[in-house]
Amino acid sequence: MRIVDLRSDTVTLPTPAMREAIATAELGDDVFGEDPTVNRLEAMAAERLGKEAALLVMSGTMANLVSVLTHCGRGDEIIVGDKAHIFLDEAGGCSALGGVHSHQVPNQPDGTLALADIEAAVREDDIHFPRSRLICLENTHNMCGGVCLTPDYMRQVRQLADQYGLMIHLDGARIFNAAVALGVDVKELVRDADSVSFCLSKGLAAPIGSLICGSQDFIRAARRVRKIVGGGTRQAGIIAAAGIVALEQMVDRLAEDHTNARLLADGLANMPGITLDPARVQTNLVFFEVAGTPWTAAEFCERLAALGVLMLALGRYTVRAVTHYGIERSDVEHALHTISQLLRG
Ligand SMILES: *Cc1c(COP(=O)(O)O)cnc(C)c1O
Repeated sequence: MRIVDLRSDTVTLPTPAMREAIATAELGDDVFGEDPTVNRLEAMAAERLGKEAALLVMSGTMANLVSVLTHCGRGDEIIVGDKAHIFLDEAGGCSALGGVHSHQVPNQPDGTLALADIEAAVREDDIHFPRSRLICLENTHNMCGGVCLTPDYMRQVRQLADQYGLMIHLDGARIFNAAVALGVDVKELVRDADSVSFCLSKGLAAPIGSLICGSQDFIRAARRVRKIVGGGTRQAGIIAAAGIVALEQMVDRLAEDHTNARLLADGLANMPGITLDPARVQTNLVFFEVAGTPWTAAEFCERLAALGVLMLALGRYTVRAVTHYGIERSDVEHALHTISQLLRG
């Protein structure tokens, strides 16, 4: 049976060029700072994002955890969206491991936090309160549908942060999707953040790894926190080698994923029982509702999987489909055809 796996861009497998780069990578002990391939990737990432330095970690979750723990101490508070990956999907690591309190602010449908909500969440200096320290943003915003935050919005949050002496961390797991979709240099999207994390292992198709970028001082401190969480690894050039190929070869092609997501969204929007807001489909994520079908999202996905098309149920009636490297236009057409068959019974 033909399988079309649209559950996540994390299912991407390394490209032939990545496997070749892994096989031939020059290696050393990265805890000693001696892995030349890791050093090259970190320098490349910092340059690409317009930051002074970068640090390789094993996952996006580790990147966010290390970043928050570098900015914040015990009893400090982060201001974070109620649909943020950091809040919903990282097992509460900031509080579990860092004693960091979180103050949730509603995510708007466009992935932003309203400036007034951020401002209202900032604590006064009072011994009853945790200390506000950090604003966490996410671009693209996963649970808001892969929508993009703009440089203009980032600048407004920066002004607010400066007014209250707060730092900004940007969870940019899919920051290159945002840059490609908006047609801006990624530097523009991260300029106003003190730290930014991004994933090599999603649409960029590397097998493992994320990077944290920031100032020299921040990255030096983050390197110690990475050691604390057990993230100091040795011949990590094995991982970095694929990451270099990801940055060199896999960014521009994200546009294909966006075109395929658009095709999928337009097809789904015309199907009975399915509702979807095409304006929210800006990158490679397609969220839709199946409340008008006889099934819950889980039942819908189970029936679809039996026909070889895999998607994720992310709410009682909400389904997410993700386009990525390895998914061609014909796969999307096949998925649409399969769904219309399922709906016809
Ligand atoms: C996937 C994701 C992460 C975490 O990445 P992992 O490598 O799966 O730990 C963080 N933030 C966002 C927005 C993500 O989509």
